[in-house]
Amino acid sequence: MITKRNSTQSLFFDLECIAPDLLNNDSFYSRMHAYGDVFLKDEDYAPLYSPDTGRPGIPPSIIAGVLILQRNDEVSDYEAIEKLKYDLRWKYALNLPLDYEGFDRTVLVKFRSKLIAAGLERVSFDNLMKLAVEAKILSPENIQLADTSHILGAAAVQDTYQLIRSAILGALKQVDVKPANLEKYREGKADIDWEDRCQRAGHLKELVADAREVLNAAEDTEAKDHEAVKLLRDILSQDINDKDEIIKGTAKDRIISTNDTEMRHGRKSSSKRFDGHKAQIAEDLESELITNVDVIPGNAHDSTGSVELMTEQEDILGGRPRTLMGDGAYGTADNRADMEEAGIEIISKVRDDSSPDKYSKSDFKINLEQNEVTCPAGHITTKYSYGKDNKKRRVRIYKFKAGLCNECPHKDKCTKSGKGKAITLNYHEAKLQKARQDQQSDEFKALYPRRSTIERKVAEMMHRHGCRQARWIGRVKTKLQLLLAAAAVNFKRLGKIAPQVLVPAG
Ligand code: SF4
Repeated sequence: MITKRNSTQSLFFDLECIAPDLLNNDSFYSRMHAYGDVFLKDEDYAPLYSPDTGRPGIPPSIIAGVLILQRNDEVSDYEAIEKLKYDLRWKYALNLPLDYEGFDRTVLVKFRSKLIAAGLERVSFDNLMKLAVEAKILSPENIQLADTSHILGAAAVQDTYQLIRSAILGALKQVDVKPANLEKYREGKADIDWEDRCQRAGHLKELVADAREVLNAAEDTEAKDHEAVKLLRDILSQDINDKDEIIKGTAKDRIISTNDTEMRHGRKSSSKRFDGHKAQIAEDLESELITNVDVIPGNAHDSTGSVELMTEQEDILGGRPRTLMGDGAYGTADNRADMEEAGIEIISKVRDDSSPDKYSKSDFKINLEQNEVTCPAGHITTKYSYGKDNKKRRVRIYKFKAGLCNECPHKDKCTKSGKGKAITLNYHEAKLQKARQDQQSDEFKALYPRRSTIERKVAEMMHRHGCRQARWIGRVKTKLQLLLAAAAVNFKRLGKIAPQVLVPAG
């Protein structure tokens, strides 16, 4: 049964009367005190409670308020509960009496799980969005920005030995078999000399043999399709070859932790790696309010999910956002095509892959109407054949004659092939050509530098509100973390740019 706050209940303690000097009216806590009930309403959480059974409990608006304050102050569940009990600012922000004792931290854990199970993880964020839409601060016509940043996963990365051992233990809960080394696995990391290659190889053979025994036992039973058994099968196939040795190199989409199977190896740059997920963040260009967030795999392309990032806002904005501006990662031909199909214009630069010492495709003039390609030396070819791109789609490959290229003074800069230079067109080449043309316009040149505004917002989310580190396991919970942080960030922003929006109607 839901317990609602009694708004007429007089507080045992009024900080404004006793210690007004302690209050900063511009602070996050004072704004929460004054306007928190505008976006944290008990009735929004009614689906989490039985309408007529259960004991009276804690009003959900208080728990939701703690989750927002937690993201604002970037504290753990334990610290949040301590603050709720002892920090005057938190009591003031949530309009709680001085002697409010708080609750157990498991309440936060259960509340978050219930939010996700009921699909209510966006409530506080969406409530603030609705206020901004009603005040005409946000609309589908506004230009939005998008950017990604890495999130470090909450679980520890495991090596192949740890992955197999942990997956065996997980799968054994579903299968009736007792591998020879079961007790050793339960004790933790094997007690061998890890510097010794032979001992490592011997241990691996034991592990793989036991893993195969577990998988064989699962065959022809219902356990075969259980997630834990599937995980063991996936780990073996991604890390172990036919000779029961560790595969050299990294398998595509490799699982790196049995505790968070959604974490992936990702790259911040060509030389810097991370382990975890990526945050997708969209922002309104003018108001700088966050309009949506998502969590995509750490190894996904930065444009992944950018269409959904926009279309998810449709109901709240009262229409689909018309324009998205992002860096070159959003300007790939495929993303342009996907966006166009969704009715969203993309403003982004086509990435220039040219370098001073090597010609690239962008140094060749491609004339699709005339069906010809001109090389940097001024030679024209109209000869082409067909090949397949990385998505197995049919694309044209234009070829320059071997004799011409082999005698060309630019050859070293142009091609290593002795068979003549080949230029492969993109499946959406026409879109790339148009984008290259558009980015030369004065309008584009004036607007595009404003894209960097979102980098400040991403930095605020990552560094000020702790989104660089996932607090919880899995992408769904990490997205909840981002939504709560985004609600805190937008609440601050609305208080700054349009405080009148936060005043309750009437
Ligand atoms: S190597 Fe061939 S394609 Fe390249 S610039 Fe010379 S002639 Fe043109």
